[in-house]
Amino acid sequence: MIPPVAMRRLGARALQRYGVSPLSQWRWASTGSSSEAADAFEKKFSRTITKVEHESPPGNLSKRSDHFVEGIMPFMVPTYVRPAPVMVRGSGCYLWDMENKQYLDFTAGIAVTSLGHSDTGLSEVISRQSEILIHASNLFHNKHTGKLSQALISTTLTSGAMRTATQAFICNSGTEANEAALKFARKVGHSLDTSGTKHEIVSFQGSFHGRTFGALSATPNPKYQAPFAPMVPGFKYGKYNDIDQLPTLITEKTCGVIVEPIQGEGGVNVASAEFLTALRARCDQVGAVLIFDEIQCGLSRTGSLWAHAHPSLRPKDGSKPAHPDILTTAKALGNGFPIGATIISSDTVGKYIKVGDHGTTFGGSPLASAVGNHVLTRLANKDLQDSVNSRSQTFIRGLKRLQEKYPDAVSEIRGRGLILGLQLTAPYVSKVADILGSARDKGLLIISAGEGCIRFVPPLVITDAEIEVGLGILEEAMSEVIN
Ligand code: PLP
Repeated sequence: MIPPVAMRRLGARALQRYGVSPLSQWRWASTGSSSEAADAFEKKFSRTITKVEHESPPGNLSKRSDHFVEGIMPFMVPTYVRPAPVMVRGSGCYLWDMENKQYLDFTAGIAVTSLGHSDTGLSEVISRQSEILIHASNLFHNKHTGKLSQALISTTLTSGAMRTATQAFICNSGTEANEAALKFARKVGHSLDTSGTKHEIVSFQGSFHGRTFGALSATPNPKYQAPFAPMVPGFKYGKYNDIDQLPTLITEKTCGVIVEPIQGEGGVNVASAEFLTALRARCDQVGAVLIFDEIQCGLSRTGSLWAHAHPSLRPKDGSKPAHPDILTTAKALGNGFPIGATIISSDTVGKYIKVGDHGTTFGGSPLASAVGNHVLTRLANKDLQDSVNSRSQTFIRGLKRLQEKYPDAVSEIRGRGLILGLQLTAPYVSKVADILGSARDKGLLIISAGEGCIRFVPPLVITDAEIEVGLGILEEAMSEVIN
């Protein structure tokens, strides 16, 4: 997985000492890579290898991260089960750990680093803006937040994904973007019906909307909710893609409905165009706000700026895609810098929101907004979207090959663009962790989703060659675990 030029420079023995197998070296040599990321990598890798060679005798390398982790663990609230590697740097589609082992990253930090790791353009924006102004509080306007809000509106309108997007609230994360959306829906409900009965919020099984109390209450997964019960009152849950239930699920008491057009954490489940259209129609009937959570699936990950406007999610009769009243985004908007946004329509939402209804200390800082502006411009680019569509075909072809090779183990390939899932059959669901572990040992990072689904959300700048290399490693891992 080392670019050929860097391989020649470093030599095979040095590469093996840093955990790069002869097989993966061969793969790189045979596939090659002309990407800028590979060039950037070559520079960084050459530089760091020299440094590490001088500082750490190879025999002690694996102990370094173990000791490091042992030292820090007692001080960290145990929120995640983390595998051994300690990640220290990244470039393009690659990460390196403390032992300088290289990983091809099919996770993009969970659908975040769409432009790749350590992107030079983004570093320049962060560096420049951090020297000018990082934070001045929301008591004042700054040059970047309004511009980002305007850019979110104009790109959304141009993409045809919302009929009346007019304003944006900029915050710091996905859960906060949803929290704002849920509060806005409640405010609309209270404004339309002052008796207070129009307060119910509907969400769907398999969804993930975040970890703060409102977003968590909309995430009907006992694993996340049970330890913190009771949830916020007034939340109801329906079955994803079930149209028949809508008349009883969504009623005059409903103020808001929140749905992921493609469920990420839930197992890369794609909403049908009919379901989204039926949700829109039922929300219109009862006067409820429709919220699309595109925190994971949006910002060109499907090849369309917003997933719900992807051609395959448009109604078959050629009519317009179902439009939300509120659209939430985060993750890729900062390419790793914390930021989120809640895009609203004035007609149905904005006119009910008054000064003081909501706020944030950090959200929409000059620095975060400058980052968001830069990232959004690049992610909304047509060439990038075309390339996502083409990379997606390469990916799906490779996944189909895996399905043909393991017909008993793989039941389905789901998703759109570069948010894809490989569903394993019931007997193999318990093997997912082993497959992920084996792939990681071989230098590929992937994550799971739902029940027995292997999820692929790589950087959108990934090349065909990198996809083939990664799927080759996955095949080895599957053959090791399954056979
Ligand atoms: N909504 C969706 C669809 C997500 O995938 C996530 C995170 O995985 C969130 C909301 C929460 O985002 P954050 O972790 O930034 O709070």
